[in-house]
Amino acid sequence: MAHGVSDEYKKEHFDSKIKLEKKLDQLAEWIRSAKHFIVFTGAGVSTSTGIPDFRSGMDTVLSTGPGAWELRDNRAKTPKNAKVLNDMHKAIPSVTHMALVELQRRNIIKCVISQNCDGLHLRSGLNPDCLAELHGNMNLEICSKCGANYLRDYDAATGGLDHLTGRKCDKPECRGLLKDSTINFGENLPRSEKSKAFRHANQADVCLALGSSLSVTPAADVPERVAERNQKLIIGNLQRTCLHKMSSLNIYAFTDTIMEGVMKRLNITIPPWILRRCVRFQIKHEKLNNCYQILIEGRDSDKDLPFSMFKSIIVKTPKSEYLLKKEPFSISIDMNVQDTKNEAKIQLQLNFFEHYNEIPYLLEYPLEDINEEFYLFWNPTTGVWVRKERADENLTQ
Ligand SMILES: [Zn+2]
Repeated sequence: MAHGVSDEYKKEHFDSKIKLEKKLDQLAEWIRSAKHFIVFTGAGVSTSTGIPDFRSGMDTVLSTGPGAWELRDNRAKTPKNAKVLNDMHKAIPSVTHMALVELQRRNIIKCVISQNCDGLHLRSGLNPDCLAELHGNMNLEICSKCGANYLRDYDAATGGLDHLTGRKCDKPECRGLLKDSTINFGENLPRSEKSKAFRHANQADVCLALGSSLSVTPAADVPERVAERNQKLIIGNLQRTCLHKMSSLNIYAFTDTIMEGVMKRLNITIPPWILRRCVRFQIKHEKLNNCYQILIEGRDSDKDLPFSMFKSIIVKTPKSEYLLKKEPFSISIDMNVQDTKNEAKIQLQLNFFEHYNEIPYLLEYPLEDINEEFYLFWNPTTGVWVRKERADENLTQ
């Protein structure tokens, strides 16, 4: 494992237009005929979203400026003109992220193996079954006792050695301490993600490594395994990588340029990114006390996981208004003290974390037994929520 890289490996290269076209033709051809195509990603796939990488040199062409470790080693600060997000949660998945989502939806990509813990692959809509996050995910917490997973729409990474987040497992029978899932340097990779990654590396006949210096092991052993098996390893990166001599093809271009070119050749449109949210809502009448129990939960739409996506929820009944500030978002409405002359209804205002300027979503329900799950899609370019009953309905409508 290495932190810094030598100057030779900091130099950025760009293929000429003609050279690049030829390389992309070749890459598209290999993807088209691949039996088991996998993609390995590093920080370079996220720099165009405004998240800086680690190793780019002081004179990088990247709009995010020099990498974090380069700044540290040079005791420098991020240049004023650098386009760096102050909050990684505001990052909109890149062309590369969305191209990978579409290739995975079409079963062309069998697995994306990532070193990134920025959570963008999941947020872009990639199926978690086809993703191995070797260095964890800053939005994911794991119960140290029962292993339950919890997704958060905020940074759950503590950076601490014990990884404890201070929160506890929701399961009443467990209540184990929750730990963040990000991997610090020197720590072992999560076993399940590592074995998934190597299982695919052992099957892959084509592996595309994007935006990684391939210098951090054991993660970089994944693309290396493909090359060792004499299968095709294609590397797309601005800098020369540690595996450039082992690869079948080295492409020197931005990863977005590479993926745009490849998708064009494959005749596949790159879909726009749309934020997906899954909401579970429940009203239950308890006859004995004449009260209504209300529960609102955020869920992950791919896996059946709890997902903390509400900053707060306002519940309005005919007579009162309640502000719920933390999970679980539940409330009991006592009908003995409610004015029920009018038809009893409740109104809900779901307030999100607003990373993408999501506006509150309003709901109205009659007070009766209800148990439903629905999906909300937020298109940051149009600024409207669209409600769907299924996750896979056409998102662009
Ligand atoms: Zn637990």
